[in-house]
Amino acid sequence: SLEAQQSYDYFYLVLQWPGSFCDSKQGCCYPTTGKPKSDFGIHGLWPNYNDGTYPSNCDANNPFDPSKIDDLMSSMQSEWPTLACPQSDGLKFWSHEWNKHGTCSESILDQHTYFQTALDFKKKLDPLQILQNAGIEPADGSSYSLSSISQALAQGVGGHEVGIQCNVDLSGNAQLFQLYFCLDQAASEIIPCPNSPSSTCSSDGIEFPVF
Ligand code: 5GP
Ligand code: 5GP
Ligand code: 5GP
Repeated sequence: SLEAQQSYDYFYLVLQWPGSFCDSKQGCCYPTTGKPKSDFGIHGLWPNYNDGTYPSNCDANNPFDPSKIDDLMSSMQSEWPTLACPQSDGLKFWSHEWNKHGTCSESILDQHTYFQTALDFKKKLDPLQILQNAGIEPADGSSYSLSSISQALAQGVGGHEVGIQCNVDLSGNAQLFQLYFCLDQAASEIIPCPNSPSSTCSSDGIEFPVF
């Protein structure tokens, strides 16, 4: 049924650190709109099931339509920049995210609301500020323990654990890559994560490269 196709339990709001995306073996390409600011960027807002699985590509009849988010363009470019190669303006990334993930929650969040919701939470959460307040800052040669990063973030969002993913730089050092925040089914508030994404971080020596 339509209802079954539309089901999910909660959302992940996933943010990426551009310094770590770019600093990896695959490298990155700045968007045609220019080098993004030094801040976490949005990767996606993903409906998920409590058991860790997730629906995808739920409605081919409701493809991404950029005209529906005309008014959000400057915020999208600033807060949801694409860093994949080859270089592009972002529409392909946002289209991928809507078509794969957004269509699975379209009965709750239409296209405009979907993107607006991700933008609003990202601005409200402001994890870079939370980390900086705890003395955790992007700096070359910096390194932090997973527990210090994890504690700072949890404290900053009202006590809920935040999922932390690392990747590795060209020298094989672990670095802070993505943050997973869990939102309730209506995407109205942060909740404790029903399911934690597997942390690919070492317990110590996590770098936070400048961007
Ligand atoms: P990766 O394997 O690079 O972590 O993820 C590849 C893609 O799979 C992501 O971009 C995302 O679209 C999807 N994905 C990975 N993990 C999850 C998850 O836990 N929940 C959802 N909804 N999608 C995921
Ligand atoms: P997901 O992991 O959401 O399924 O996949 C993300 C897709 O969007 C990938 O195919 C990737 O090439 C593309 N993409 C474009 N820009 C970005 C970016 O800045 N970060 C990530 N993770 N993927 C991007
Ligand atoms: P996709 O195959 O869906 O394009 O990408 C899968 C994953 O590979 C993305 O989530 C992203 O983490 C990574 N990826 C894709 N394109 C790039 C790129 O140009 N640079 C980097 N560093 N990672 C990428």
